[in-house]
Amino acid sequence: MNIKMVDLVGQYLKIKDEVDTQMQNVINTSQFIAGAKCKEFSANLGHYTGVEHCITCANGTDALQIALMALGLERGDEVIVPAFTYIATAEVIALLGLVPVLVDVEWDTFNIDPSKIEEAISPRTRAIVPVHLFGQCANMEAILKIARKHNLFVVEDNAQALGAQWKGVLEGKENPKSGTMGHIGCTSFFPSKNLGCFGDGGAMFTNDAELAGRLHCIANHGQKVKYHHSMVGCNSRLDTIQAAVLDVKLKYLDEYIASRQSAAAYYLENLAGMEGVELPVTAEYTTHAYHQFTVKVADGKRDALKEFLAKRDIPSMVYYPLPLHHQEAYRDMAKIVGGLENSEELSGRVLSLPMHTELSEEQLHYICKGIKAFYR
Ligand SMILES: *Cc1c(COP(=O)(O)O)cnc(C)c1O
Repeated sequence: MNIKMVDLVGQYLKIKDEVDTQMQNVINTSQFIAGAKCKEFSANLGHYTGVEHCITCANGTDALQIALMALGLERGDEVIVPAFTYIATAEVIALLGLVPVLVDVEWDTFNIDPSKIEEAISPRTRAIVPVHLFGQCANMEAILKIARKHNLFVVEDNAQALGAQWKGVLEGKENPKSGTMGHIGCTSFFPSKNLGCFGDGGAMFTNDAELAGRLHCIANHGQKVKYHHSMVGCNSRLDTIQAAVLDVKLKYLDEYIASRQSAAAYYLENLAGMEGVELPVTAEYTTHAYHQFTVKVADGKRDALKEFLAKRDIPSMVYYPLPLHHQEAYRDMAKIVGGLENSEELSGRVLSLPMHTELSEEQLHYICKGIKAFYR
């Protein structure tokens, strides 16, 4: 049956002609850096997300780093992050000499628990980086309220949720897209992400013109005028070829998300009521782009289930096996105020099932049958 975690080849074959033509066009002009497609794509992505400024960069990790650099934080300043996330979120904080302050996540949504944020705020706290993990928005209403009260910046890690949307009105905006609700939103075009390119890529979103100017400048060696450097920056650009690929795929993003949602609907219906497997829950205030379909396996059976499925050629992945405070490099550096019980317990239970735009009903049926067979 050849089931894959992510089927990038299948997705490519459906748009091969369009993509190949656009890539060839870039090669014909050979403007590989800052070519016309870069501007076109960032305008189109800005339009898609409804944000005023979209600045592309080399990858999602850089996007987070540049965002934090643009805020003018000082060494030793504290940045609040969820303890259960991909390492990039905390990595950039550490690289900039800032202190990651870990807050526990909610059991149901895997996202930072707003009710635990305030106790983690100190006089040195300057920013919160909520992660829209696995494809649904964190509780931005509660997070923005706390941020305003304590005068903190909010940088959304939107690497996994591009295309998801807040349900209802937030800060006067109707159904804002993920990544456009905080001061800056960051996303990734890593091949397996919701909108993936053929290598590395990333982007930052903001509605603040001054911040946009800084982001743009920092991503480009801190220069506004060529060879005149007003800030310390970095070399972080989206290749023109990647922009060309992304510009084609952006047209299909909503279709891609709909495919993921229908695969998720199949799982939810066919795995419902199983004892031992807790299915993902979508909060009422957000749509779910299902970057991942992540179940919680009870009774210490996660690894056994994973192995059982692998024997039937059903791949699955553990995102993520360790919370941040158990990572060797971060153990002594991260600041912890409250308990991190959910992050710890979830790390031992999570199992992500195959999720991509090309899953057939036959494949989904086979996967669900495999999971049920384990419990028989
Ligand atoms: C993928 C990812 C990133 C980093 O993106 P890259 O483009 O791989 O650098 C950051 N945060 C989260 C939550 C991610 O999933």
